[in-house]
Amino acid sequence: MKTKVAQDTYLVGIGVSPGIAIGEVSLVDQRPLVDRSLIEASEIEAELLRFQKAVARAREQLEKIKQAVSRQKHLREHLYILDTHLLILEDDMLVGGTEKVIREQMNAEGALTQVLDQLRALFDNIDDEYLRERRSDVDAVGDRLLRILTGVSERSIGNIGRKSLIVAHDLSPAETMQMDRSKVLGFITDKGGRTSHTAILARSLDIPAVVGLESVTSMVYDGVPVIIDGSTGVVVLNPSEETFKEYLKRKQTYEYLEQDLEKYYQLPAVTTDNVHVALRGNLEISSDIDHAKKFSVDGIGLYRTEFLYLGRSTPPDEEEQYNAYCEILQQVESDTVTIRTLDIGGDKFVPELNLEDEANPAMGLRAIRFSLHEERLFHVQLRAILRASSCGRVKIMFPMISGVAEIRACKEIIRDVQLELDTEGIAYDPDIPIGVMIETPSAVIIAPLLAQEVDFFSIGTNDLIQYFLAVDRGNEHVAYLYDPLHPAILRALKTTCDAANAAGIDVSICGEVAGEPLYTLILVGLGFHELSMNPACVPRVKRVLRQVSRADGEKLIEKLLLLSTSKEVSSAVEQEMRNRLPEIFAQPLI
Ligand code: PEP
Ligand code: MG
Repeated sequence: MKTKVAQDTYLVGIGVSPGIAIGEVSLVDQRPLVDRSLIEASEIEAELLRFQKAVARAREQLEKIKQAVSRQKHLREHLYILDTHLLILEDDMLVGGTEKVIREQMNAEGALTQVLDQLRALFDNIDDEYLRERRSDVDAVGDRLLRILTGVSERSIGNIGRKSLIVAHDLSPAETMQMDRSKVLGFITDKGGRTSHTAILARSLDIPAVVGLESVTSMVYDGVPVIIDGSTGVVVLNPSEETFKEYLKRKQTYEYLEQDLEKYYQLPAVTTDNVHVALRGNLEISSDIDHAKKFSVDGIGLYRTEFLYLGRSTPPDEEEQYNAYCEILQQVESDTVTIRTLDIGGDKFVPELNLEDEANPAMGLRAIRFSLHEERLFHVQLRAILRASSCGRVKIMFPMISGVAEIRACKEIIRDVQLELDTEGIAYDPDIPIGVMIETPSAVIIAPLLAQEVDFFSIGTNDLIQYFLAVDRGNEHVAYLYDPLHPAILRALKTTCDAANAAGIDVSICGEVAGEPLYTLILVGLGFHELSMNPACVPRVKRVLRQVSRADGEKLIEKLLLLSTSKEVSSAVEQEMRNRLPEIFAQPLI
């Protein structure tokens, strides 16, 4: 029997695609029921054939979806996801592994489920969030095969009858691609994470989505009214009239602001008192450069090269890195790309590089410490970066510097590489700017000394907050202490910016703080002229920037520096921004 959903049931998941959707539930939850049973030895051949036919059928289905998707311009860039699924269908661990279990006299669906469970366990042990979530691609292929084997027809999300909000245990990228945007108002799922392909696709399709709700499928049924806020991750089941009206208002405001946002793409990033601020993009994978360009970023302020090293058995060689860097440089034309050398260790673990288990990895052999320890690997990367500096404007940046000796050691290796390139007659930019990330308390305190050594600073607030406040950036139990507006962080930003200005070198921020419009006025007030962020944040930050002045920012900073707690600072900032720009900084509902 259906249990009535209590009015105004609030759930909080992970908002992966912004926007507000209001509608009725269309529950899409037909997970195949798997019958695991043993078979006779005489049935093995027939069972193997049944499994191989299922693999062939899955391939046909994926090819068909690929054809349909390639006709849709906005989805074409995501075709690689379907190619990944086709490759998984050829994977020996999955296919060969299942065949092996069938030969041990297990039926095909039982054998496949067993292998999928083993693969899931392998993925669960990966520390890196991005790689761990690639598990969802294996799940999607496994689910497709199980559907074929059990005769459960493919879920036809592509042709749901009425406009509704899809609620599912999980959605595969292929299913998400087939969604009809005129019918699907939004979707919510039990499973999923921020960097799953389904999340990436939801953003491309512009469909509000919240994932990771754990058990929403068991709480609703067809026709239940729901509100999804894909920006905050809030979902309201069976909203009261009052909640409905409030969200309707928010939805209209959001849509108006989104439309309005496009006009900022091409406008200059300048305050009302004529202070220009360069808004650059952070980049993880070179193929994201098109996405970054769409938002008119002023070059790339942080290219996280560790993503080149992830998910492979050997590190990328000089040629591969050189090509990857040049590809980005060609795309940004005359703009600058700040290439950060490898930053692994801590929460970014690359199993292939055989890092030793450390009791305290965030304070261990991470980032520049690892590079200086593994000098051969570092040398290869520096050669590739220096060579790339002849293809365009490159800056080189070192992560997690904690003292002057480290930057001197880096510069010495750069000099060695330059000599080597000179001898080989290979071109590079001899004046390549060299900079450090300011991420440790010691770097802040000795900023005036570091400023004598380098051409620029870039403040990595994600780590700076972690190390300054002694709060693990990935630990949900202490997340309440991770506060960018802690008085110590404001002072750290000010000290660093003042030291850079006094020494006449450039200073920027490239942590998440830079892309948060709530902080834009503060950062301008502190004296920053450069911010680097997730490219999609650029128009949002620019919109605020164009409506405030540095003078107002300076006044606000003066006031904030007199306050004693994070709470006092954040209340003052929220109040100030709400008064100035009430449409953008609405009061949160929960
Ligand atoms: C930072 O720490 O703020 C930063 C930009 O580097 P990452 O998030 O890659 O550690
Ligand atoms: Mg960092």
